[in-house]
Amino acid sequence: MKVAVVTKAKAAIKIEERETPRPQAGEVLIRVKACGVCHGDLDLQQGAFPYGDIAAYPVIPGHEVAGVVAVVGDGVDWPKTGMRVGMPWLYSSCGHCAACLAGEGAMCAEAQITGVTKDGGFAEYMIAPASHVSVIPDGLDFAEAAPLMCAGLTVFRGLRNAEFQPGEKVAVIGMGGLGHLAIRYAKAMGGRVAVISRSPDKKKLSEELGAELFIDGGKKDVAEKLRAWDGGADIILATAPSVKEMNAAFPGLARHGRLVVIGVADAGVMVKPLDLILGERKVVGSLIGSRKDIQDCLEFSLAHGIRPEIETFALEEAGEAIQRMKNGNLKGRAVIVME
Ligand SMILES: [Zn+2]
Ligand SMILES: [Zn+2]
Repeated sequence: MKVAVVTKAKAAIKIEERETPRPQAGEVLIRVKACGVCHGDLDLQQGAFPYGDIAAYPVIPGHEVAGVVAVVGDGVDWPKTGMRVGMPWLYSSCGHCAACLAGEGAMCAEAQITGVTKDGGFAEYMIAPASHVSVIPDGLDFAEAAPLMCAGLTVFRGLRNAEFQPGEKVAVIGMGGLGHLAIRYAKAMGGRVAVISRSPDKKKLSEELGAELFIDGGKKDVAEKLRAWDGGADIILATAPSVKEMNAAFPGLARHGRLVVIGVADAGVMVKPLDLILGERKVVGSLIGSRKDIQDCLEFSLAHGIRPEIETFALEEAGEAIQRMKNGNLKGRAVIVME
């Protein structure tokens, strides 16, 4: 099988021919049909925070996997061969700690991560634990389902963690793979949406997706503009991997507004005590999503006709796809599609 591999931190992605692995007891072999390209893959390739420290180089990236069960290992009676399945960021977890018992395997200290500590989906085939695949509903294309496994899931969960209520105003920071899906989910759930972005060329797309306000994130008056939006945003969903915009936007929250931190950056979120106290605002973290969230997200997407904007690439173009994402000149999400 053909794979794209990161041999070590900062190395360019390399295409290799490898023997197709055989699933062991409790595992399945997935024939990968599509795999989305996430900012986490860029961090992995660059050896950047936080993946550089934990990655099992040489490793095959990719944690937005959509495919079909090709072979099942001993003792596996679910999923069946031929089933349409996806693999998310969480590859496996211990199953018995407090986090796992609560259905939050991603918070397990023993969690293994797809495409970081275990080989992921930038390959024609990948091994996955039978217990951790998700079913992709018929009606969702593989290439459209793939980005929902991380980008879609993360913003879907972020809105849940913010305790979003219909009618609320959601300001989305960043218009990349996550941000553009956040607009669609917030709209479909009955919200109003603003976008804060440093790329003025994303204004048109954000309006097409349903945003009523576009704020240039590079300007100084972001909070002011938010407050002028009928009293401020109820939720700021910070998807961009930068704290600058979060810090600038925070005073633009309405009373009881919530800043949801999703984008990973190696710097501090800075808020003034009075900006928290006056209006009783909150800062909330949100981590990917649970297995239940994945299923809910996929079904919600199907029911509401929510599809990611995608640009497709061949497996051999994996390095180029990551570079395009880094440069911010993709429309939506890059997805690697296998022949
Ligand atoms: Zn991801
Ligand atoms: Zn656990």
